[in-house]
Amino acid sequence: MDRLVLAQGASFDLEDTDLKAEALSRGMGYDRCCYRRNDDGSTIYSAWGRNGCRISLFRTLFTNVCYHQCGYCQNAGRASNGCSYTPEELSDLVLRLRREGRIDGLFLSSGAGRDEDSTMEGMIETVRILRVRHGFPGYIHLKILPGTSRALIEEAVELSDRVSINIEAPSGDVMEDLSPTKDYERDILDRQRWIRDLLARRSSGSQTTQLVVGAAGETDLEIFEGVVREYREIGVSRVYYSAFVPIKGTIFEGRMQQPRWRESRLYQLDWLYRVYGLSPDEIKNAFDDDGFLPNEDPKVTLARESLDWPVDVNEADLQSLIRVPGIGPESARRIISYRRIKKVERPSDLIRLGIKRKAIPYLRINGWVQRRLF
Ligand code: SF4
Repeated sequence: MDRLVLAQGASFDLEDTDLKAEALSRGMGYDRCCYRRNDDGSTIYSAWGRNGCRISLFRTLFTNVCYHQCGYCQNAGRASNGCSYTPEELSDLVLRLRREGRIDGLFLSSGAGRDEDSTMEGMIETVRILRVRHGFPGYIHLKILPGTSRALIEEAVELSDRVSINIEAPSGDVMEDLSPTKDYERDILDRQRWIRDLLARRSSGSQTTQLVVGAAGETDLEIFEGVVREYREIGVSRVYYSAFVPIKGTIFEGRMQQPRWRESRLYQLDWLYRVYGLSPDEIKNAFDDDGFLPNEDPKVTLARESLDWPVDVNEADLQSLIRVPGIGPESARRIISYRRIKKVERPSDLIRLGIKRKAIPYLRINGWVQRRLF
């Protein structure tokens, strides 16, 4: 029977691959990227794939060996007692899961191993076996390891639907505390720019990134400024946020856990910038004097701080309507289409259009304004 050789020299029967898959999937730690763990604790995750369809991905590390010293990570500095796939093992496993109808694709990340290029070569070889030898048509999201050489990045972009490098921190200063072995500008931002330029020559493919929230005392405003750079200069399609949770045995095990709502508020802020098109200057009104977001929907904070309310629902343009809590771009367009036919006369007209009740206190409707505003 074939055997899987682990980094420390131990081995499993091939039939025990699930054991190894479990160990390497557990090692993903902060690599959240929108993938939700299944309720049954399996290593297969639900995600949005091509064309916005829901798909199932097998999500795993290639190796949990890593020479980096990221303070929040359980894999930091692990030179022994780790485990790794070979490209053949991992591609066999992916093909088996696909044959069984359990997955649509693969999300492959990794520790850096002993050096990033040889680990990245193994990851790319896995994808090459899947794509070239077996014609694997499924979705593939491949992590690029910080510091990877340009030729390998070119190949990774060529073979994958999506690539990503985790920035982890909003700036080089924060990165020095989080992970002193990484050079923020050279290992991460330069690589992201290479990917941006490679993707610009292709008709498909995208780049995303992720950061850890609050492990180094950084403010939400610092995070937001780093995120704006990612969207504007790097052209990432999405930024994912992962609230810091100390893990026992890591360098940061004594640091304070961040509340999950902080991550949620950053996602809401991200949405206001990325989908609603609010400017960074306008969004900055959502932060308190210390640069943090309060625990409320930032759209509500912004409405209280800067919305010129009540907004006349029969007169307001699209930009004014989408700033009202409870009205998004879609529902604002519905209101404008409705107004072409008839006037909005009462709150029930809006409810029938699918507008949330929480919008009503911010609106003037046919001369009527709700007395209690907030
Ligand atoms: S690079 Fe950092 S976060 Fe990634 S596996 Fe290594 S120690 Fe962990």
